[in-house]
Amino acid sequence: MKELIDKLYQTQALDKEELIFLIAGRNRETELYARELARQVRERTYGNRVFIRGLIEFTNYCKNDCYYCGIRRNNKKAARYRLTKEDILDCCRQGYELGFRTFVLQGGEDGYFTAERLTELIREIKNGYPDCALTLSVGEKKEEEYRAFREAGADRYLLRHETADPDHYRILHPEPLSLENRKHCLFLLKKLGFQTGAGFMVGSPGQTPETLAEDFLFLKKLDPEMVGIGPFISHGDTPFREQPDGTMEDTLFYLALLRLMLPRVLLPATTALGTIHPSGREKGILSGANVVMPNLSPLSVRKKYMLYDGKISTGDEAAEGVKNLKKRMEAIGCQIVTDRGDYNRE
Ligand code: SAH
Repeated sequence: MKELIDKLYQTQALDKEELIFLIAGRNRETELYARELARQVRERTYGNRVFIRGLIEFTNYCKNDCYYCGIRRNNKKAARYRLTKEDILDCCRQGYELGFRTFVLQGGEDGYFTAERLTELIREIKNGYPDCALTLSVGEKKEEEYRAFREAGADRYLLRHETADPDHYRILHPEPLSLENRKHCLFLLKKLGFQTGAGFMVGSPGQTPETLAEDFLFLKKLDPEMVGIGPFISHGDTPFREQPDGTMEDTLFYLALLRLMLPRVLLPATTALGTIHPSGREKGILSGANVVMPNLSPLSVRKKYMLYDGKISTGDEAAEGVKNLKKRMEAIGCQIVTDRGDYNRE
């Protein structure tokens, strides 16, 4: 097992059989070995710097019906909201004062936010904060729309592929969603010059060592600037309410493999990881992650962007908690930095 980790470290690649063997057959020792190596690689690439991104969850209306997600269209219990342009600009202003130089606009696929409205919003944010990076995470769009976002000044785009296995994709998503279109969107985003993020949930229903191996191979091929992974956490008002949650240990191991495979990738220790364990985020950083994404959304709506049960929203993961987050990162030898934190190609 250790030989496979060494091989991944040295060549940044493994084939499908090797990945399956490693994922299915690993033991505690292998996990800790991978995590430690990943931490070293992170340090070599980015030093002890941890980047922060201000997450603005600007709408929880969604036309999609993903079986795992708390804001799916068919969850009639979700209290819906959408922020106004003024609300969003307010979040940016507060975030800027707290030291954020990246804003992430994330939401459901909300028809109200047409390409026109979104481009207008992007322009205003980039005009007001020309020294900040703007990341979008608003799902699958047409090429013209992605191009318009890019031309308006959006720098980055997060679109998790969720799973690279078509049958698994179908377990997680009803028609008309398809893995084919998801992947198509990701390659479009890269072509248009977005710093692009893909990723998957750890322990989602139907996930196996085989589907995970496909995820890693797909990520290697896409070569994204960012990868977001976090444990699946069941939401009581979705069809997956009875499904077991993903685990922290699995997430930490896959974070480590990602760091070894894509040494320069921007890799967040996600809110979901912080939700399943109080020190999940620190352990994520110590396993190769180098980004945290505190919540900048107005307090009045935070509880409504419930992708999964128990989602943390007011502690150190919140933007107001940046001071505490700093302390927590310093306690593990890391430093939160105030800059855009772009992907480093060199
Ligand atoms: N609509 C946007 C943003 C989706 S929400 C898009 O399609 O990209 C961001 C991510 O939250 C999703 O990509 C999914 O991987 C994750 N997520 C959704 N439900 C979750 C759950 N129950 N547990 C853990 N993560 C979840």
